[in-house]
Amino acid sequence: MLKSKNILLSETDVLIIGGGIMGATLASILKEVDSNLRVDIVEALSKPALESSHPLNNAGTGHAGYCELNYTPLLPNNRIDIQKAIKINAGFEISLQYWSYLTKKYPLFSPAKFIKRVPHISLVNGDKNIAYLKKRYFALKNNPLFKTIEFSSNFKTIGKWIPLLKSKKSVKKYAATKVESGTDVDFGEITFQLLSILKTKKNFHLRTEHKVLDINEHEDGSWLAKLTDDKEIKSKFVFIASGGNSLKLLQKTKVYEQIGYAGFPISGQWLVCKDPLVVAMHSAKVYGKADIGSPPMSMPHLDLRIINGEKILMFGPFASFTSKFLISGSFFDLISSVKFHNLKTLCIVFLKEWPLLIYLIKQNLKTHKNRMSDLRQFYPDAKSKDWHLEDAGIRVQIMKKTKKDGPKLEFGTEIIYSKQNNLAALLGASPGASISVQSMIHVVEKCIIKKERLSSWKSKIKKMIPSYDLDLEKNPKLLKKIRSTNQKILGINY
Ligand SMILES: Cc1cc2nc3c(=O)[nH]c(=O)nc-3n(C[C@H](O)[C@H](O)[C@H](O)COP(=O)(O)OP(=O)(O)OC[C@H]3O[C@@H](n4cnc5c(N)ncnc54)[C@H](O)[C@@H]3O)c2cc1C
Repeated sequence: MLKSKNILLSETDVLIIGGGIMGATLASILKEVDSNLRVDIVEALSKPALESSHPLNNAGTGHAGYCELNYTPLLPNNRIDIQKAIKINAGFEISLQYWSYLTKKYPLFSPAKFIKRVPHISLVNGDKNIAYLKKRYFALKNNPLFKTIEFSSNFKTIGKWIPLLKSKKSVKKYAATKVESGTDVDFGEITFQLLSILKTKKNFHLRTEHKVLDINEHEDGSWLAKLTDDKEIKSKFVFIASGGNSLKLLQKTKVYEQIGYAGFPISGQWLVCKDPLVVAMHSAKVYGKADIGSPPMSMPHLDLRIINGEKILMFGPFASFTSKFLISGSFFDLISSVKFHNLKTLCIVFLKEWPLLIYLIKQNLKTHKNRMSDLRQFYPDAKSKDWHLEDAGIRVQIMKKTKKDGPKLEFGTEIIYSKQNNLAALLGASPGASISVQSMIHVVEKCIIKKERLSSWKSKIKKMIPSYDLDLEKNPKLLKKIRSTNQKILGINY
């Protein structure tokens, strides 16, 4: 039996560790389906959403598979695999439906402050890439989810879509696709708005400046989270939504399911431009193709961002090596996450992924001049003085043993569940925030809904998310209705 001399701060049903978009979304869904549930969020920092969910720490792309070329790889049989794009698009529709539901229900939830329509464009040059993009366009446009995608290899049209690309010096052949209904999303603002609604509810507590140091399972199957200042919280269910730090906290729980998992942190930087004359010339998110050897999420993109009403341009990300798991973390994070059980995985992945390591070293060595020359692929007349470097968030990529390929580096998101389903942790960071609602519904279904309440909870979720349990791809009428309703409610119609 665990004996403790600590101060018991709270006894709760659900303890969420981390006040980013994931933790806030899970708490919000839970309180919508069962207002009596006791939910606590603990956040180490003085404010929520200061890590990856902060608008400057991520790209703010409402990932829907419209422009990200890594979601539609060319297969060895010369066909384009669009399955990942479909999955992500459907996942983002779930987020849009939930945000629309909250907009209708709560005056405090104001989409004008967090979501804007910003077209999503893919841009490539060179014959091989143009052939790929054309193939991708034909593969997507027959799918109801991507019906509105446009393609052009006419420089005049592309120049209208991306005015910054126009230059007297330009002699390259380009092709581009555009989806008008793409979005820019401020995930930090959503986090704040979700939390401000939650704070009005009973049985909900947000405790900032409360860092979880340890988590132990109690003999009755609940968990004791040890916090700073000798405080502790007892909870029936724990969700670790601690961004890059999730892996380290998961290791502390000692659940069997974390065995073999390791983390590989990659930090990032953006070139940022605030010159109003330049900013006014760009009104899209333009994604290019990632360099060979680079991680898929480091595809270069030039984005219009709208943060607190201010329009800025962001180009990047420029990846680099770090040993920290959070911006506010410690340089010992990586080394302290190395355990006997994940050492082999780590070593093998480092050996296998040497092109990635070389890529990161090269990225680290880039000067402002080099970065500007990358930017000039999108904006040939860019002036160095208009752009400055800012830090982005840190992504801790998952390394794990897989049955098929042995130890492997994963670029996606994964939720690890304990055998008893009394604890879950979210690892990885892509596509992340855009599909936060779908990911958190998964946690609710798998761990928190009790059998006797299953049908009542599911019907509540269905009211919030009309496409819940349905395949939108196979229900084009419902898709059309949902899209037009949501776009109107969220103010992103065109
Ligand atoms: C460079 C970059 C670009 C990205 N671009 C996009 C994009 O365009 N679109 C998109 O959808 N997603 C994007 N993402 C991913 C997205 O930002 C993340 O998926 C999302 O923000 C993760 O939210 P979270 O709540 O899990 O983590 P976070 O926002 O990092 O929150 C975790 C919280 O846990 C707290 N915490 C950590 N340890 C403890 C502890 N011991 N005790 C208490 N609290 C703790 C932290 O302080 C932090 O506030 C990007 C990420 C990066 C890094």
